[in-house]
Amino acid sequence: MLAYLQCINKNCHEKFPVIAKLYHCPKCESLLDVNYEFPKTDPEELKALFRARRSSLIPKDQSGVWRFRELIPFLSDEQNIVTLFEGNTPIYDAPKSATFAGLKKLLLKHQGLNPTGSFKDNGMTTGVAQAQALGAKAVACASTGNTSASMAAYASRAGMLAAVFIPSGQIAYGKLSQSLDYGAKTLQIDGDFDAAMKLVLELSQETDLYLLNSINPFRLEGQKTIAFELLEQCGWQVPDRIVIPGGNLGNSSAIGKGLAEAYQLGLIDRMPKMHIIQAEGASPLAQMWAKGEREKLLAVDKATTLATAIKIGHPVSWQKALRALDWCVGGGCHQVSEQEIADAKAIIGSDGIGCEPASAVTLAGIRNLVNSGVIDKEERVIAVLTGNLLKDPDYTVNYHLDSLYQKSQTKTEIISHQDKIVANFANKPVQVSAEKTKIKEVLGL
Ligand SMILES: *Cc1c(COP(=O)(O)O)cnc(C)c1O
Repeated sequence: MLAYLQCINKNCHEKFPVIAKLYHCPKCESLLDVNYEFPKTDPEELKALFRARRSSLIPKDQSGVWRFRELIPFLSDEQNIVTLFEGNTPIYDAPKSATFAGLKKLLLKHQGLNPTGSFKDNGMTTGVAQAQALGAKAVACASTGNTSASMAAYASRAGMLAAVFIPSGQIAYGKLSQSLDYGAKTLQIDGDFDAAMKLVLELSQETDLYLLNSINPFRLEGQKTIAFELLEQCGWQVPDRIVIPGGNLGNSSAIGKGLAEAYQLGLIDRMPKMHIIQAEGASPLAQMWAKGEREKLLAVDKATTLATAIKIGHPVSWQKALRALDWCVGGGCHQVSEQEIADAKAIIGSDGIGCEPASAVTLAGIRNLVNSGVIDKEERVIAVLTGNLLKDPDYTVNYHLDSLYQKSQTKTEIISHQDKIVANFANKPVQVSAEKTKIKEVLGL
């Protein structure tokens, strides 16, 4: 048995075949991992193989996920691979962001440059491959937007029905538009993400729907490859710190697992530190971390943040995320304010890079950690940007118009708002009459 499902609970650790359609351990209800008995391989040979595939013409080699397939060997038939050539995302040097944070240098790995605009594609290619391997006809997810956009695309490519459950009126338009255009059955649920998640989990246990939220460990196997690609882009020289936004906590869990396996297989010689950053109003793990609570989730009942992708109060993968923080010793989980997120996002934009609000928690968090002396300005830090700037244009335009509010009640227009965010780095559009002299004046020509 090269690949198997395994319960993450140390007192259980029960194993199950990968073809079992399970989301929890049937014995103790804990989350599951996909684990492997990796054959002995020469790490240098593996690195050369991964690199050589970058110039191959074969689709599974061109995928930034399946290019690492020796490290995610759970498929018995590679015909089940569905790829949109996900991954292969750049790492950017971001000098303005570095200065803002107080660092000499800062690198941003931009997972928002995936085919549907978020890192969810890294996980959806493996999740949908497993759905095909199980013969699933329909897949489902609850989503704050990006999971549904990604699942809708991959399910359509695979010819499966996609059922997405989204909290009504709480997802960004860019994301909703994708799920509609890719042909998903899009169900707008009264309630928040946590309510939608509970419903879809129950439905997938009662019906043939195959669940593709990050509770599904096959998705996390794809997201794990973000760590491999990041390390490869650093010439396998381990950075000091990797900083990741945290919502449902699947991605930080996955990247932590990838790092641990890279270490175990001798691809790297030490572990980096990991920091997970949450929005203040949706920060269950940050609160647990601060209080030293490790055993019981301190769930947030009504999560609030304008960074809708991380607006989650009951994160499914909190135990796996804590495990990842244990593996990457010296990091932690921290929270940042809405004001800090908004300004950090504008700075990332000013580097010519840009991202969606949830991704900007990274820069805001790094800045706080440098200010408080946790991170030294010389350290090599990489932040993972999770989503594309174009996902949530409303947020960005409102910020630059200096009209972004923490609490806005919207129907088709704003009916009330509260708690203004100060646009410290606003770049307002300029109203100018259609006369060359006026335009020259504005441009200083
Ligand atoms: C999904 C998502 C997150 C949160 O990732 P988790 O795995 O849920 O912690 C952060 N940013 C963006 C843009 C996302 O789409």
